[in-house]
Amino acid sequence: MAAQIISGTEISKQIREELTKEIEDLKQQHNITPGLATILVGDDPGSKVYVGQKEKACNKLGIYSERTDLPADTTEADLLALVAKFNEDSKINGILVQLPLPKHIDDTRVIDAIAPDKDVDCFHPVNVGKLVIGTGRFLPCTPHGIMELLKRSGIVTDGKHAVVVGRSNIVGKPIANLMLQRSPGGNATVTLCHTGTKDLSAYTKQADILIVAVGHPKAITADMVKEGVVVIDVGVNRIGKTEEGRPILAGDVDFDSVKEKASAITPVPGGVGPMTITMLMKNTVESAKMAAGL
Ligand code: NAP
Repeated sequence: MAAQIISGTEISKQIREELTKEIEDLKQQHNITPGLATILVGDDPGSKVYVGQKEKACNKLGIYSERTDLPADTTEADLLALVAKFNEDSKINGILVQLPLPKHIDDTRVIDAIAPDKDVDCFHPVNVGKLVIGTGRFLPCTPHGIMELLKRSGIVTDGKHAVVVGRSNIVGKPIANLMLQRSPGGNATVTLCHTGTKDLSAYTKQADILIVAVGHPKAITADMVKEGVVVIDVGVNRIGKTEEGRPILAGDVDFDSVKEKASAITPVPGGVGPMTITMLMKNTVESAKMAAGL
């Protein structure tokens, strides 16, 4: 049986259409325009592209966006002062500081300085704590995107064995926590694997739902999964360049072989990737509603 290809491109389009309508309603009925401040320190080309994509998404959806580009030698004190300014700015509902920051700036101190209600990345310890307890109104963007992909593709998680490979703070740990919540879209039995896991394939072979975020191309091959598995491939690896110089991307899963055994699988590109910025937009709208007591 051919695997269902879970298209993040399509699902993200659906969510953006819903958001466009919600933003229009907020403007018309409540005179609210959600606002996102993005801060980029330095000139890392990848970070520039990401911040540009976030700005573009805001413009398309009708979210007010304010971008600040700071030089690489910006002091931590100056960055903290800018965050404090946006914390107080009522036009701004979300503050996004693009990571990684230059080495002389402590990421943790900067994240901790963002007002939790404006922490649309959901990296602040208050929001991470709420996520674990199950009371969070913000969810971190990539894991939230994965939950939406599963839900909107009709994948049942209740009672299933979800195996997550990778324990980063931005993907592995939060998605494992979300999958085990008692709420809809969760209630799975969760196993979290990492480089300390002995005999990785003994776990991946048990997965009904396998979520992979390791950052190595083809880390998961067909012999490591069971028939009928649902595979969410978070990895984005640059494995070469096209003749025109564009990067060739591959996931962490050997798509061609694994899709022959899977019942559903996300492609790379066009799977998890398009969801992340869309969920950032959703969090910004959610924050604007929270600020207005809606
Ligand atoms: P990360 O911070 O580098 O973490 C990778 C995790 O994978 C670590 O926990 C590491 O274990 C584990 N790992 C690495 N090799 C392993 C192996 N052979 N077996 C078992 N575990 C292994 O990476 P990340 O930020 O989570 O990102 C992972 C991938 O997802 C990257 O390709 C990244 O580009 C992509 N990504 C995509 C999106 C998106 O929007 N699509 C968003 C975020 C990340 P240890 O903890 O033991 O070192």
